[in-house]
Formats: sequence, structure tokens, C-alpha cells
Amino acid sequence: MNVNDKTGSAAWTANPERYATMRYRPAGASGLRLPAVSLGLWHNFGFVDDLYTARAILRKAFDLGVVHWDAANNYGPPYGSAEQNLGLLLRSDFAAHRDELVIATKAGFDMWPGPYGVGGSRKYLVASLDQSLKRLGLEYVDVFYHHRPDPDTPLEESLGALRDVIRQGKALYAGVSNYDPALTRQAIRFFREEKVPFVLHQARYSLLERNVEAGLLDALVEGGVGCIAFSPLAQGMLTNRYLEGIPPDSRAAKPFGYLREETVQERLPVVRALAAIAADRGQTLAEMALSWLLTRPAVCSVLVGASSPEQLAENVRALDAAPFSEDELSRIDAALGR
Ligand code: NDP
Repeated sequence: MNVNDKTGSAAWTANPERYATMRYRPAGASGLRLPAVSLGLWHNFGFVDDLYTARAILRKAFDLGVVHWDAANNYGPPYGSAEQNLGLLLRSDFAAHRDELVIATKAGFDMWPGPYGVGGSRKYLVASLDQSLKRLGLEYVDVFYHHRPDPDTPLEESLGALRDVIRQGKALYAGVSNYDPALTRQAIRFFREEKVPFVLHQARYSLLERNVEAGLLDALVEGGVGCIAFSPLAQGMLTNRYLEGIPPDSRAAKPFGYLREETVQERLPVVRALAAIAADRGQTLAEMALSWLLTRPAVCSVLVGASSPEQLAENVRALDAAPFSEDELSRIDAALGR
């Protein structure tokens, strides 16, 4: 199928100035440089979503120099559909730009029925990447992640599968996600011995979620691995989205996904306090949340989601932020009760 059957005219020319303002930061000690703001396809790119909007978001991303796009086998819903839509759009709009893009995917959470469709076995990871490449219509992905540790599989088996798909040319770089500090250190040792380019750890990190500060960031700095921070806006809570209630088109109002209205309500007092600090800095809350993360050790990129091109453009404006003063950092800590 051609995407234009679904989304109308293909008329679009990429912005020739797309690299003028974005900053590119090395993933750890590697030569891979990522845009300071990257785009994730967990939400808003499935068959349940509007393909016109998905295309508009990707075009905006590309035009802003946001050239790293992050997928996973089971993003949708339904599972696989975000990769399928991305594949359609890569063919229709970005075929001439493949080498300007860093495309990532992952496997680890449940994908298909039975014991070989989940976890960390070699059987699952290799088959899943083959399926992802078909959906994406690509010969290789730039980054392939083990999406989560699997306590029922020896670590060497999961990491060995990543090593081998890289040696086969199906992926260029290895990554892990949701690994704790101890496992991460083991992964650093394994990949170093095997001479595999292990460049990224994808971890949940935001003003509201700071577990990575208890050892993970140190391990990454020491190991020369970049942290790419996922859900940096706490799924939208660290924006102005919920300040006046729960909008009907917001993630918290949707029947699928993991952001609950009660969580949004619980966090609202803290979010309002943070929004006030952002306003004093002349920023939106989203801009402040992202610019704060970009000052943290090991963090090379913030991996945002967006349900519109405008949201993404706002998030990229985080790069225009003034440095934080000591007073502002203390006010942020106080708002967070730290
Ligand atoms: P964010 O924290 O950036 O939340 C994105 C959501 O916040 C958007 O969909 C939108 O929600 C809202 N939003 C974003 N920008 C704005 C703005 N400027 N103003 C108002 N609202 C805004 O990230 P996600 O939770 O989406 O995660 C990002 C990516 O991280 C994923 O796509 C995925 O690639 C990766 N990820 C990885 C995981 C892992 O285990 N490795 C787990 C989770 C995510 P709304 O729909 O309400 O408009």
C-alpha cells in the first residue's frame, strides 16, 4: 500500500535549514551523535491513530533536525502497527533521507503468543528483529535494544543475540533499556570484551522520576554509554496539558496506555509549582523539564512523545533555555519535596 492512498498529497520538501539549530550530542563515548531531542513512537503512531497526524509529526521532526526516531516491536496498538506506519512513511516521505535518520527498535516485552514472543531468549530477539525489519521496510536498524531485563534468560544469551545481529548487519549499535545499575555494568563488560558498540541505555528519567540517579547514571558515565531519557515529560504531566483538567483527547483520557487520571490528579500540586518556576524563567513547563534533563550527567538526548507537530516544536524550544541558577535549582528541589 502507498501511504498517499491513506493520507492524500505527498507534496513536501524537507527544510534545507534542518540542521541549523538542533544540537547533536555524542551517545556516551561513541561516535554516534543524537539530536538533543529525539522522537518516540510509543503512542500516536498505531493503527488507532490518525496517519495524517503521524506524518505531520515526522515531517516536523525531520524539519527541526529531530532525526532520531524510536520504535519497538509492540508499539501501537495493535502491536507492530507503529513500525508498520513508520515503514509506510519512511517509504513515502523519507526514502531519500534514510542515511540522515537514526531508527531504533526494541524487543523484550510481550509481542506474540507463546514462550518465544516475550523475554530475552536468542530465539525471541532474533525473530523479533527480523519481523521489525520487514514492518519497517529496512535492511537494518541503527539501534537495536533489549527492551527489559529477563530474569529467566542468562544475560549472556540476550546480549549475545544483540552482538550477533550486529555482526550480521541487521543493526549498527546495541542498546539496553530498563536494566538496573548492576546488570548495566555487566552489559558494559560483556560488550567491551566482545567489541560490540554498546552506545545507549534507555531509561525512564524526568523531574518526577529520578531513580536513575541512584547508581545508573554513574555506571553509564564510567562505562561511556549514553543515557537517552524516556518519558521525559512524565507522559505529559510535565506540560501545561493537565493544568485545567483532563482534556478529552489527552493520553490520560484514552482507554489504552498507562497514564491514569488519578496519577495526574495526585501530581497536580507539584506540577503547578513547577509550572510557576518555569513561567518565572520565561519557559513553558515542558521546555523547563527538558532543558533540566539535558544538564544531567550521561544524558545525551531526551526521548519525547508528541501528539501534534506543535507539541514537538515546543519541546525543541527547550534548547533555547537559559542556564539554571542555583536559586532556580533550589526552588525546583523544594517543589519536588527533595
Ligand atoms: P513524554 O513524557 O514526552 O510524553 C509524551 C506525551 O506528552 C505526548 O504524547 C503528549 O500527550 C504530551 N506532550 C508532549 N509534548 C507536549 C507539549 N509540548 N505540551 C503538552 N503536552 C505534550 O514521552 P512518552 O511517555 O510518550 O515516551 C516517549 C518515548 O519514550 C516513547 O515514544 C518511546 O519511544 C520511549 N519509551 C520507552 C520505554 C521503554 O521501556 N524503553 C517506555 C516508555 C516510553 P497527549 O497525547 O496527551 O497530547
